Formats: sequence, C-alpha cells, structure tokens
Amino acid sequence: GRRRSKGFKVTRFFTTYHYEGMDGQVVGVLGGGQLGRMLVEAANRLNIQCRILDAKHAPAKQIQAHGQHVEGSFKDANAVRELANSGCTVLTVEIEHVNTDVLKEVSERVSVKPHWETLQLIQDKYLQHQHLYRRGVATAACVNVEQNDEDSIRRIGQELEYPFMLKSRKEAYDGRGNYPVKSEAEIPSALKALGDRSLYAERWAHFRKELAVNVVKTKDSVLSFPTVETVHEDSICKLVYAPARDIAPKILAQAEELAKKAVACFKGKGVFGVEMFLLQDDTLLINEIAPRPHNSGHYTIEACPISQYDAHLRAILDLPIPEESLKLRQPAIMLNILGGSKPDSHLAVAKKALANPRTSIHLYGKGDGRPGRKMGHVTITAPSMREAEQMIQPLIDAVDEVHA
Ligand code: ATP
Ligand code: MG
Ligand code: MG
Repeated sequence: GRRRSKGFKVTRFFTTYHYEGMDGQVVGVLGGGQLGRMLVEAANRLNIQCRILDAKHAPAKQIQAHGQHVEGSFKDANAVRELANSGCTVLTVEIEHVNTDVLKEVSERVSVKPHWETLQLIQDKYLQHQHLYRRGVATAACVNVEQNDEDSIRRIGQELEYPFMLKSRKEAYDGRGNYPVKSEAEIPSALKALGDRSLYAERWAHFRKELAVNVVKTKDSVLSFPTVETVHEDSICKLVYAPARDIAPKILAQAEELAKKAVACFKGKGVFGVEMFLLQDDTLLINEIAPRPHNSGHYTIEACPISQYDAHLRAILDLPIPEESLKLRQPAIMLNILGGSKPDSHLAVAKKALANPRTSIHLYGKGDGRPGRKMGHVTITAPSMREAEQMIQPLIDAVDEVHA
C-alpha cells in the first residue's frame, strides 16, 4: 500500500511539473496565429505551458497538445474571462486588436502584459501617434478625420499636401486600412474604400528605407535587437534584412535609440515591434508600434542567441535577458511566403526552399492560402550579407512567380 501511494505521487509530480512548466507559470495568449505559434515554439523549449484563445485549430494550438486551450475570439469578453479564469498566471497577446475593456476587468485578478492601456492606445493608430507626439517622439504629421465626407478630406489634403496616406484608426494590418490619396480626384474612391471606418490622415513620408527595431521592455530596462531593414510590397512586409543595408552605423544606433524611446512611453512588459521611416536626409520617423512580437523579428529565431519570442516570454515572466543575447550571430534575410491564386500555391516556394542552402523554413499551419495571406517564411543566415543575398535570390524569384 505504501509503495503504491509513493509511486502515484511521483507520477502526479511529473504530471504537474509538465503542465505548469518552468517556474510554475502558465501563459494565456490572446490570439493563436503565426506569432502565437512561434511564441509557443519558444515556450515549448522552456517547458512553459501556453493556453491559447482562438479558433479550434489555430496555428498556435497545433503545437502544444493539452485540453486547456480556449475556443473563441479574443474580441469576445466571455472568452477572455474564460481564459483569465483558467489558471493562467499571466495573459499576453499576439495581436493588438483585442477586447481591452475586459482585459482591464481581468487585470485585477491576473497580470496582463503589456498593460491593457498600452494595448488600447496602440490599437487606435491615431491615439498611438498622439501619445508619441506629446512625448516628443518623432512621427509623421497626422490629422484626425472628424467626418468622413469629401469636404473634410479635401481640407486635410490642403493641409498635408498630396500624396497623403488615409488610414483606418483601428483594425489595420498588412496595409488593409490604408489608402494613398495621390490627388483631390482620388478622394471619392478613398472614401468608397474606407468610408465606413474611423479615419485619420498622415503626411506622406518620402522614405529612403523602412527600418524596424524589436524592443524588449523588462521590469527594469528597455533593450533592443539590432536595426533591420524592411521591404514592403503592396503594403505587406516582403523582406527583412538584418542588419539594415547601406546605412551608417550612427544612423542604425539612432534608430535603436528612437525605438527604445518610443517603447518607453508605454506601460508594461514584453516585446514591441517598432516600424520607422528613414527619410532622404537621414531623419527618422516612427511609422507605428506593435505591442507584441513582430514580422520584422522572425529572423531572430535563427540569427540571435535568443529570439524575440524567447525575449517576450522572459520579459513577461521576469526571467533574465542578457543584453548580449540580442545581438546578431550572422547577417540574415527573412522572406515572407504569401498565398497565391491557388490554395497551395505557396507550397511551391517552401519546396524550393528545402533544397536551398542555409535556409530555415517555417510553415504556419493556416490551411488554405489566399492571395496576400502570410502562410510561412524562410530565413537565411550567412557569414556575409552578400552571400545571404545571393542565396535568397532564387527564393525571391519563386515568391514573385507565385504572385505573378
Ligand atoms: P502592419 O500592421 O501589417 O505593419 P498596417 O496596415 O498597420 O500594417 P502601415 O504600417 O501603417 O499599415 O503601412 C503599411 C505600409 O504602407 C508601410 O510599411 C509603408 O510602406 C506604407 N506607408 C504607411 N504610412 C505611410 C506614410 N505616411 N507615407 C508613406 N508610406 C507609408
Ligand atoms: Mg499596423
Ligand atoms: Mg505597419
């Protein structure tokens, strides 16, 4: 009898250990797309349990098997309450378009990282800009659209000059929510595209390059990964070069400082993706901030000792992050794999990547592809950027073929 109960306890102990993970922490994640999935990959290596709130077979749920994920939407108050009440020690997000009212409510019982106010400010891009502007952080000039009619937009056009960017304040991603207004004549079509949403307008940034920095906000410091270069096509991130090419080291350092200054304006811990414009005269402006791991930081999985996903977990759980671990081991290039005209068009790129040297392939498990949908990515690291550029070229050609 005695031996048996001892054995039972041992089994119980291992079961409990396995489920609660390192430190006994359980991380609840609002959203289970590709960013959540890569967060779970990092969590798996640290034996940290994640509970994902999203649809049944969401990408992040596929790679951590247990019965405690929550089915539903991160916009639904009851679903968020269910996640918060399921025994999570901390809640975090992989997307900013979440229900912040209910996060405010549950933050009295479970810690929410970053702070719900940060999510509320950032999810409204106009409020985000105002918040940064008031704290002296350089951003593109912007004007709120008080009324979605032609007269109002025409007045804004006179103020900002053409072209300017009309943007949806909320629910924006991958450029869905942006309309470049090139002349007064385009105002009706801009209103037709975005007129049912709350809008603001931004002065056009005549940028030489787009840059990004993944910033890590911990309990007592603000750290950053290196400055990278992002290349967008049709407003969707296509390529990331780490480090950014053809830019003086002084400017790269200034970009890191600006990104850290911007993130320091927001409460809470975690990784933030900071998008910037580098203008012709080397002026840096913040484009926008994401309060979570970001597409521009996928490269860190292969190129840095700890990835942005590791860093996010460590930041929200108050685990150590040696600054040294955020440095590049080698230059890297990341290429997004988008969906094409057929549900499996994107697999052609993945198959080609299998035979490409030094290439890591990530497929997100999203099911059928659609044009412009992010289905996966590849990362190449090499001793020099030139070698990485040569090696990735056939895969860029393959991506272009899918979209042709
Ligand atoms: P995501 O969140 O997926 O990065 P989004 O829908 O929030 O995208 P933005 O980042 O605002 O969109 O814009 C997408 C792209 O459009 C930018 O990366 C840039 O290439 C271009 N763009 C945005 N704002 C401006 C601007 N003011 N001037 C010039 N180009 C701009
Ligand atoms: Mg955005
Ligand atoms: Mg953006």
